[in-house]
Amino acid sequence: RELPGDPRSDAIPREVLNACYTNVSPSVEVEDPQLVAWSESVADLLDIDPKEFERPDFPYLFSGATPLVGGMPYAQCYGGHQFGMWAGQLGDGRAITLGELLNSKSQRWELQLKGAGKTPYSRFADGLAVLRSSIREFLCSEAIHCLGIPTTRALCLVTTGKFVTRDMFYDGNPKDEPGAIVCRVAQSFLRFGSYQIHASRGKFDIVRALADYAIRHHFPHIENMSRSESLSFSTGKEDDSIVDLTSNKYAAWIVEVAELTASLVARWQGVGFTHGVLNTDNMSVLGLTIDYGPFGFLDAFDPSFTPNTTDLPGRRYCFANQPDIGLWNIAQFASTLSSAQLINDKEANYAMERYGTKFMEEYESIMTRKLGLPKYNKQLISKLLNNMAVDKVDYTNFFRLLSNIKADPSIPEDQLLVPLKAVLLDIGKERKDAWTSWVKSYIEELSSSDIPDEERKASMNSVNPKYILRNYLCQSAIDAAETGDFGEVRRLLKVMERPYDDQPGMEKYARLPPAWAYRPGVCMLSCSS
Ligand code: AMP
Ligand code: MG
Ligand code: MG
Repeated sequence: RELPGDPRSDAIPREVLNACYTNVSPSVEVEDPQLVAWSESVADLLDIDPKEFERPDFPYLFSGATPLVGGMPYAQCYGGHQFGMWAGQLGDGRAITLGELLNSKSQRWELQLKGAGKTPYSRFADGLAVLRSSIREFLCSEAIHCLGIPTTRALCLVTTGKFVTRDMFYDGNPKDEPGAIVCRVAQSFLRFGSYQIHASRGKFDIVRALADYAIRHHFPHIENMSRSESLSFSTGKEDDSIVDLTSNKYAAWIVEVAELTASLVARWQGVGFTHGVLNTDNMSVLGLTIDYGPFGFLDAFDPSFTPNTTDLPGRRYCFANQPDIGLWNIAQFASTLSSAQLINDKEANYAMERYGTKFMEEYESIMTRKLGLPKYNKQLISKLLNNMAVDKVDYTNFFRLLSNIKADPSIPEDQLLVPLKAVLLDIGKERKDAWTSWVKSYIEELSSSDIPDEERKASMNSVNPKYILRNYLCQSAIDAAETGDFGEVRRLLKVMERPYDDQPGMEKYARLPPAWAYRPGVCMLSCSS
């Protein structure tokens, strides 16, 4: 609430004190808005009939130009650590929640428009989004979901018909780009930063109220936790003290958030997804992938790969750092709950310890399945990743091809690399020897179990995607869409909806990136969106 007599409108950027959100309506201007694409499975989740997408007023409703009947639009207040530094109030600067929808399965889904105009949290920016970044968010939300990784979803993408000015390369040459709006869908968009902002202002009663809210609505099993259940854990530390998660629901909650986050990051590592901006305001308390900006999937394996030009030279958010950053972010969240006295130090430490343990469990299990091994083999996996980094081997295509190797120790040495030929390009004799030796130990390990080759191949192919949303594929869809042709966005969506299936006729989407994929603005992006 504003001070009495304060004439400021709800869309004027400002500090919003003592509130978790502000009622604010979309204010975006449209001119002949168009539906670019929509997700059938999200429509299904929301019980929206496919015919609805053909309504002439659909692009008006989902750009926010026509208010939704029964909607209660608002923007959320949150803060966050950006690149390790406390940044104060951030908030939904261009995302406006339209309201919640209860589906026939009694699930509650929040619908949010991204790019629908200014809110009190817009700071110095315009509250708008361009087509380029909206296509990326729309496609990647659905691609990540279809890879089996928790994420916010995307119902649809519409153009506004208006232009937005952006300086994509920060070179002082801003240009006009088509405006667009994604309708994001999630059970909640609460982030670590949603709690941090209130703790930073000493408003610990709000931190508690918002924690109670999240637990009640999104972690009901914790809310209903019976105190008679024995859920005590040894911390494994020297004093072997017990953390009793049944006596403090906030402790049980943060432990679960830590585990969800650990398992999310492990899955990203499994498919080579690099988020690019893992600030605490981009960390969902439900353990969802949230906020698709300058993300990127690994092409050539490079642990220090960051898709975000703003992340140079430090590479805080590079591929290999994501697990540690997840922990750093959990530590910030734990310190927020501690400062509000919702958890004690022992509970905070236990949550962080659980993050580490859970991450390793999940990561080891994912890598074991990716290689089709009978059991986890640390040495074999590190040798492989090391070889892949040296020879810049394509992360996705390598694992997909690996399943063609037969567990047959009698294969002659000069034949061992044949199944991997398409990904081991231009390697000299010395590197060939290194790879041959690795494949030999791999086959040895596979032969220790009697899983038939075909069975192992099917199981490996169910965790090693054939199709991933490489940045250059997004770029082709963006280039076409900017000329008014949305066909490629729709085709790409269809392909990415079945990433683990061989899709005859779609092989070009599984190719190694062409040379132009390595130019700036394609392989790496700024936060300009
Ligand atoms: P991000 O780096 O995408 O997580 O964004 C950080 C903050 O900047 C969030 O509070 C966003 O809402 C805000 N923001 C980013 N782009 C815009 C924009 N065009 N207009 C208003 N706020 C923005
Ligand atoms: Mg964000
Ligand atoms: Mg963003």
